[in-house]
Amino acid sequence: MTEQPELMIDLSGIVKSEGMELAVSKEYPKEAFLEFDQSLSLETPVTLTGTITNHAGNSFLKGTLSFTLNLSCDRCLEPFSKAFTIPMEDTIAREDSGLEADEFIPYQHNTVLLTEAIYKCIFAVTLDQQLCKSDCKGLCSVCGCNRNETNCNCDDTEIDPRLLKLKELLK
Ligand SMILES: [Zn+2]
Ligand SMILES: [Zn+2]
Repeated sequence: MTEQPELMIDLSGIVKSEGMELAVSKEYPKEAFLEFDQSLSLETPVTLTGTITNHAGNSFLKGTLSFTLNLSCDRCLEPFSKAFTIPMEDTIAREDSGLEADEFIPYQHNTVLLTEAIYKCIFAVTLDQQLCKSDCKGLCSVCGCNRNETNCNCDDTEIDPRLLKLKELLK
């Protein structure tokens, strides 16, 4: 992993004192996520705002991620961009905390790098269905035109295969 000192969050003020809280407000440039996913297309940097609280030896991040993604519509395939604001909650603990590896973000030397955890949150968003607009009409299954733009009048009503058989018989 590349050194990214400007992206590290310094936990030294809270890790030793129970109940201490650190306010976090950080901007991560688009390039910070390329090492996890070359094809991830961010329109904007990613901002994280929230708090990290020390509780019982571990630190808990409760924050909000804001970013805009370049996407393509799952129905009409047209490119569009969409702004997201999503919650991010994670446990930050020492490597030797005894927690399961997928349950926490490890920190070293009292600093933590959250880029990979943030990337996972962004990636989760990309798995949802993304539409250019909620009533996107999609592509015509007959001629392939974008039905938001063209009214092709093709008959693409899906016919039940059993009815198709019946149609044949009636010929
Ligand atoms: Zn669309
Ligand atoms: Zn058509």
